[in-house]
Amino acid sequence: MTPRAPTEKVSMTTAPQIRKAACPGSFDPVTNGHLDIISRAAHLYDEVVVAVLINKSKSSMFTVAERIEMLTEVTADYGNVRVDAFHGLLVDYCRDNAIPVIVKGLRAVSDFDYELQMAQMNRGIGGVDTLFMPTNPEYSFLASSLVKEIATYGGDVTRLLPESVHKRLRSRLEERNAGQ
Ligand code: ADP
Repeated sequence: MTPRAPTEKVSMTTAPQIRKAACPGSFDPVTNGHLDIISRAAHLYDEVVVAVLINKSKSSMFTVAERIEMLTEVTADYGNVRVDAFHGLLVDYCRDNAIPVIVKGLRAVSDFDYELQMAQMNRGIGGVDTLFMPTNPEYSFLASSLVKEIATYGGDVTRLLPESVHKRLRSRLEERNAGQ
């Protein structure tokens, strides 16, 4: 038998591991800032699960089903991104779905305090690691809550949201105004 060269790859008998990551959040609604992080995560991992938090105690503009629909639409071009919802602890969701990594965007130093604490807690209680991605400076001020507030008062948020999401936001605000 010819000896194997040191650089030659040894074929694996077990199936290769799929590298999975979760991008969690409320996504009420998804913004270009979220999309930036999701698309960059999709380049780094084989599979990215956008995990929508079901939080019944927080009032939201869009239902979980609507948020999932919007996310599914705007991530349709990435072949390796899927959208799901979860309630309870994120680390439990990660464990049940064999996801070892959470990807989070950091907008500013103010995000860091809370995110660091969460990341350390998630590693401590669930063994799940967190990867922080600095946001594209273009989106460092961008948050769903701010977008909703500006749009409510008639401000222009066109450049901050995917077009389909912007349309839905406008019609939701029209529905609300008509109902008043
Ligand atoms: P949360 O309820 O945690 O604020 P969000 O839906 O607002 O949920 O955001 C989910 C995650 O998306 C945040 O924790 C952050 O990691 C990321 N994110 C939100 N907005 C931006 C942005 N403008 N740039 C980069 N990342 C962002």
